[in-house]
Amino acid sequence: MPVHTHRITIETGGGSDMHDISSEVQQAVQRSECQNGLAHIFVRHTTAAIMIGEYEPGLVHDFPAQVERLAPSDARYRHNELNHDDNAHSHLVGSIMGPSETVPFTDGRLELGTWQQITLLELDSHPRRREVVIQIMGE
Ligand code: ZN
Repeated sequence: MPVHTHRITIETGGGSDMHDISSEVQQAVQRSECQNGLAHIFVRHTTAAIMIGEYEPGLVHDFPAQVERLAPSDARYRHNELNHDDNAHSHLVGSIMGPSETVPFTDGRLELGTWQQITLLELDSHPRRREVVIQIMGE
């Protein structure tokens, strides 16, 4: 089965900002010329995550607060002490959410529900340049 690899780069703001990358993934499906298969979306970083959720202003606003509740940024962490770092909370939330999602497509269209968008979530406390790999496997 052929595999098509696409890469995109996203500049983030730092601080749990969300980026809707659904259209980039859909474009990758179209460029692959596959009609049916799977799109795998993978971010190559430990303090970012890929998730499928509703991308709307309320949740974009709520997300940073929820991330802070999951792993408070001002708590004491060994990672920060050992590495002179400040983003242990970012790593911990990243490990819960995970770096990837897989979405099926049929007739060249992603099978996303009406309220489902593919989003890159920045978990680090500083702006970053994020590399996302999109692999299309299909026929
Ligand atoms: Zn770190």
